[in-house]
Amino acid sequence: MAPYICGRCQKEITMKGLESLPGVKCPHCGFRILYKQRPPIVQKLKAR
Ligand SMILES: [Zn+2]
Repeated sequence: MAPYICGRCQKEITMKGLESLPGVKCPHCGFRILYKQRPPIVQKLKAR
């Protein structure tokens, strides 16, 4: 699962993608603001 999302193109950025670049920026469009992607919260519903 990709830990970051680009602030402009909204594409997922993997750690591998970040490591291949000098500094932190989107490998797709070069935008430098990335958002941390939160893991989807699984709501546990009690099934009756
Ligand atoms: Zn981007």
